[in-house]
Amino acid sequence: MEREPIEVRAPEGARLLEILWSDGESSLLPHRILRGYCPCAGCQGHSGPVRWVEGTDKLSDDALTLVDLAPSGQYALRMRWGDGHDTGIYAFDFLAELGDLFSLDREAQRARTFGR
Ligand SMILES: [Zn+2]
Repeated sequence: MEREPIEVRAPEGARLLEILWSDGESSLLPHRILRGYCPCAGCQGHSGPVRWVEGTDKLSDDALTLVDLAPSGQYALRMRWGDGHDTGIYAFDFLAELGDLFSLDREAQRARTFGR
C-alpha cells in the first residue's frame, strides 16, 4: 500500500511540519531537517545519494521558514522557503524516512544519506 498523508499540519511559527499518514503513523519534520535534506538538484547535484546540505545551519531564519507547500503529482509535496527556494520536491516515502531522524541527536541527523 502506498503511504499517503491524510493530514499535514504546519503550525505557523512552529518551524515543524507534522504529517499524519494513511497507515496511522505520523512524522515530525523540523524545517531545519527538511531544508538540510532538500532533494533538489541545486542542493544535491545530479547524482549520488541525498545527503545533508553543508551550511544549512548558517542559513537565515527566513530560509528556514516554510512559507508554502503544495502537492506535486500524486506522491510528493513541493516546499517553498522564505528565501524563495522552491525547487525541492519531497516524495512521501522520503518524508517518512526523514521523520525517522526526529529522535536522533544533531550529529546523527546530519550523517544520513538517502537513495534516490
Ligand atoms: Zn534545494
